[in-house]
Amino acid sequence: MAKVTLKNIAKIYDNGFQAVKNINLEILDKEFMVLVGPSGCGKTTTLRMIAGLEKITLGESYIGETLVNDVEPKNRNIAMVFQNYALYPHMTVYDNLAFGLKIKKTPKDEIKERIERTAKILGIEPLLKNRPKQLSGGQRQRVALGRAIVRKPGVFLMDEPLSNLDAKLRVQMRAELIKLHNELQTTFIYVTHDQTEAMTMGSRICVMHDGVIQQVAEPKTIYNHPANIFVASFIGSPQMNFLQGRLSEKQGKIFATIEGLELELNEEASGKVKEKNYAGKEVMVGIRPEDVYLVNDNEGIQSKAEVSELLGCNLHIYFKINEKQYTLSTSPKVEVGFNERIFVSFDRDKLHLFDKETEETIL
Ligand code: ATP
Repeated sequence: MAKVTLKNIAKIYDNGFQAVKNINLEILDKEFMVLVGPSGCGKTTTLRMIAGLEKITLGESYIGETLVNDVEPKNRNIAMVFQNYALYPHMTVYDNLAFGLKIKKTPKDEIKERIERTAKILGIEPLLKNRPKQLSGGQRQRVALGRAIVRKPGVFLMDEPLSNLDAKLRVQMRAELIKLHNELQTTFIYVTHDQTEAMTMGSRICVMHDGVIQQVAEPKTIYNHPANIFVASFIGSPQMNFLQGRLSEKQGKIFATIEGLELELNEEASGKVKEKNYAGKEVMVGIRPEDVYLVNDNEGIQSKAEVSELLGCNLHIYFKINEKQYTLSTSPKVEVGFNERIFVSFDRDKLHLFDKETEETIL
């Protein structure tokens, strides 16, 4: 068991491209940390530097209290699970699981005991005599996980391990990985571009963009208090809506005016706006689809419902204001016809306010 600490880590590839810029991150012992961000943001590079598969250009990487910049991957007390399971095709599942332990000259009895325990945890006991090609994608992924588990590493590193599975199996394996983390009580570092995986699995999430950490926090905090417009738009599906707004102060109260709709901010938000001198300024207002409401005629901003998607548990309505499309999420019981006139308003307690220049949150 171990914590992982990255201090001022940077990676510049041989062609001069800087994939990771000055990363500082402490991953706690037994934590499930998810590195998430769009393709190319540097998450795999970061994971590979932790694993020792990629040289660190600048900075220091620690596993536990040990500086590991120059430590061989095999001596780092880590195990990595990749997107392609990389099982040995000519070996049985048992031998695939045993391979790493045999190389380490682990006694035969101990290998057997560890494999039996791991197979039980993963529910692959009946498959031990099969070869990889006789297994389904989900079963192969379990064997790949098993191969990491039998080694009893201090840290599990996983790079998009579920992306080759179909949607249903992915959801199932997501739950199994959470269970596995609880059972093993070991540090997990998990890379994905999928914000749903990050939200559902991480004890904390590290959102990355262009080689830079944008925010590190628990999923709920990331969702409810995104640090900037990038995090706000990347996390959450459907995406947060962004509208131009102006803040004003009247008799000590703070109002946000959005497309002609004036909303009084709550006490907390008002306090922040006053403290940071934003009264009288233009800001970017973010509002999640579930915080947009349909209201009675003339009680909100007028629009037209363009498309609606029924997802069973809720209904998404796409509507336009001044030619820009927005989304609201509501009860499936609501009935709105194509091109029907609607009026929308926003939950004043759920408004996100961002500086237009820096794109950082004001709240
Ligand atoms: P993905 O989800 O697509 O794997 P990622 O966030 O994991 O993306 P990385 O694989 O870490 O991104 O790559 C970060 C950036 O570094 C990308 O722009 C990529 O093109 C670049 N990169 C990766 N490997 C190399 C390399 N060996 N040489 C030069 N540039 C590289």
